[in-house]
Amino acid sequence: MGLSVLTEEENTIRDAIHQLVRDTIAKTSAEFDRTQTFPRVNMELLGKQGYLGMIVDPKWGGSGATYLAQTLVVEAIAAADPATAVIYEVHNSLHLEGIWRYGTDLQKARYLPSLCQGTAIGAFAITEANAGSNAAALTSRAERHGDHYILNGRKMFITSAGEADRYLVFATLDPSLGERGITAFIVEKETKGLSFGPPEDKMGIRASRTSELILDSVEVPVEQRLGEEGQGYAMALYLLDGGRIGIAAQSIGIMTTALERSLAYARQREQFGETIGHYQGVQWRLADMATDLHAARMMAYEAARRREEGPSQRPLFAMAKLFASEKAVQHAADAIQIFGGYGYMREYGVERLLRDAKVTEIYEGTSEMMRLVIASRLLKNYDLDNI
Ligand SMILES: Cc1cc2nc3c(=O)[nH]c(=O)nc-3n(C[C@H](O)[C@H](O)[C@H](O)COP(=O)(O)OP(=O)(O)OC[C@H]3O[C@@H](n4cnc5c(N)ncnc54)[C@H](O)[C@@H]3O)c2cc1C
Repeated sequence: MGLSVLTEEENTIRDAIHQLVRDTIAKTSAEFDRTQTFPRVNMELLGKQGYLGMIVDPKWGGSGATYLAQTLVVEAIAAADPATAVIYEVHNSLHLEGIWRYGTDLQKARYLPSLCQGTAIGAFAITEANAGSNAAALTSRAERHGDHYILNGRKMFITSAGEADRYLVFATLDPSLGERGITAFIVEKETKGLSFGPPEDKMGIRASRTSELILDSVEVPVEQRLGEEGQGYAMALYLLDGGRIGIAAQSIGIMTTALERSLAYARQREQFGETIGHYQGVQWRLADMATDLHAARMMAYEAARRREEGPSQRPLFAMAKLFASEKAVQHAADAIQIFGGYGYMREYGVERLLRDAKVTEIYEGTSEMMRLVIASRLLKNYDLDNI
């Protein structure tokens, strides 16, 4: 039957990815989390099965699917493995899509096929130690020398740093120009002068790798500049709009698992001679979780449908992320509560939902930044009838 808001093709993709995830990614997820194993095998699998670069024209190796179809894939992966979901999301929405939207034909031909096949993984590097929410304050430098640029600086908290094969790096040609000095470069892993810090020891999404990226006189040919000089910041914001829909989907995947696990437990755990699902205190929690999940899905799917409208719908993308990520954290805690003491024990895998959910309120723009985006547009000119 499928969801009525999806096309037949999207429902088919949704069923297929859920099946694939159940048969493969779900089986290694807990072990990869425990051992902090980078799930490259999952990315290779997703590439082989045609789930990478889905929105890209088939001519460049994609499948020409809708943005919503790709969003459904993030959701399905996240329901089993939020770490793989963020690697997938950064690879697709922040790196690959950047090359597809802004690359020259030469860059597309050179980079897109391997990114779509999963034989190369892409990363996105804008954050610095002193430029997080205010990414426009970045200080990594790019200096033009004839046919190449020299990049120097340090990037913080980069997903897949050290594992990815290519990096979309943002640096400024002149800090006094502010955002208008920021320019994007495609940097290959093996480039001389590029190195990585050790993996961060994180609370959650532990199978993903997060590290510093260090640029020490890295020489990048002019052909590897993405877009024009000074366009980098606007490009980053555009890509993050899509990224935020992806993080909403990641959060929804976590919410789905929180609800499914809670329902199963409420049906079988008995106290005072009845299953705990018999008690209204538990029922109301479950009802709220299901209602939020449905609302989060509708918001994220609508945002995905309107992705192509670009920055004019930025508040819509921010709302989808804000709502889903905050609900994911709340539902993960609710699931632990429904499981009682068992929920607190690693063995049951429910505590992991909370560890994995928390970061969705932080990366690709914190909840506070999402509120700022929404409120500033509301106060300016946002058309409430058009939401
Ligand atoms: C696991 C992980 C993976 C990541 N992956 C990547 C990646 O692949 N690439 C990349 O470039 N970056 C990545 N990041 C960085 C991430 O995007 C930043 O951490 C995030 O944008 C917040 O920046 P910050 O950590 O410097 O916090 P800060 O900006 O220092 O914020 C600290 C607190 O202050 C609040 N705050 C800041 N300014 C305001 C304001 N004006 N009004 C109200 N509140 C405010 C924030 O909301 C937050 O609560 C990753 C981060 C993590 C944790």
